[in-house]
Amino acid sequence: MILADDSLAREFFLGFIKIHVLHHAAQAPVYGLALIEELGRHGYRLGPGTLYPLLHGLEAAGYLRQDPRVVNGRVRKYYVATPLGLEALATARQRIRELVDEVLEGRGPGRGELGRVRRRRRSSRTGALPLPAGGVSGPDAEASCNRSASS
Ligand SMILES: [Zn+2]
Repeated sequence: MILADDSLAREFFLGFIKIHVLHHAAQAPVYGLALIEELGRHGYRLGPGTLYPLLHGLEAAGYLRQDPRVVNGRVRKYYVATPLGLEALATARQRIRELVDEVLEGRGPGRGELGRVRRRRRSSRTGALPLPAGGVSGPDAEASCNRSASS
């Protein structure tokens, strides 16, 4: 569940939620209310005021496109993943796998080993994570460091 007063936790979970939305939009067209329910099932409680700007952000990034359909005589705004969105999702999957391997499975450098790796002083001193300010980073940044990875 998102802790509204913890901005760092919120930032983490918004990234998870974006990947989640992209995942479902890659499988079948999705719409706002169904996503709110689905995310609720996973323990993310968010309202339209959070979800719709998030959908618009993914659309603006070129990851989703609108696919409106008439349901019961009314237009419902569905979203589907674009080829760029699928590419971003493929990259995200690899990052998730790596994260799970290290954080859940305990693979990766052991205790003390990381100290031998030369780090950038500024980010380690503040303890700040070098995350992009806008959450999920753009496709260009992703593509440049993971080009061999797709498909
Ligand atoms: Zn889900």
